Amino acid sequence: MFIAHLPAGYLGACLLTRRAAAERRHLLFVPFVVGSIFPDADMLYFYLIDQGRHLHHDYWTHLPVFWLAAWGVSLILALILRSRALALAATSFVGGVFLHLLLDTPFAGIRWLYPLSDQSFFLVTVPATRSWWVWSFVVHWTFLFEIVICIAALLLLLMRRRRA
Ligand SMILES: [Zn+2]
Repeated sequence: MFIAHLPAGYLGACLLTRRAAAERRHLLFVPFVVGSIFPDADMLYFYLIDQGRHLHHDYWTHLPVFWLAAWGVSLILALILRSRALALAATSFVGGVFLHLLLDTPFAGIRWLYPLSDQSFFLVTVPATRSWWVWSFVVHWTFLFEIVICIAALLLLLMRRRRA
């Protein structure tokens, strides 16, 4: 997924905070949205350091087991510090990350069972039809899902602005 992670994060954060108490909304909304795009920060490493030698979905940023461990550590830290705010924000952030991983799964693949298995789970293989791999994804029919998510997020944003 290329362009719809942020819109999907926005949709997810709106859903998550819809019934949340006003004082908790900021602890949930922003961490969820940031989490929904954070795994793709590995593109900096992919281009600047790794120089495209490995699929960026093979990095720790796209491994569910890493995020489960990070969430566990955050919750333990929140317990030690007796910070409900940290627990809420960390849970929301990891929720956003898992939304990202779910959306990456069908068309790019995620190693959901790592380290038990190295298999990458996906539904559709996007063939390399263009010289730059990004264009292969953009001209593939699966890109329509991204457009639908973007339109849904834009409509929700416009509706919320009208109500405010
Ligand atoms: Zn990703």
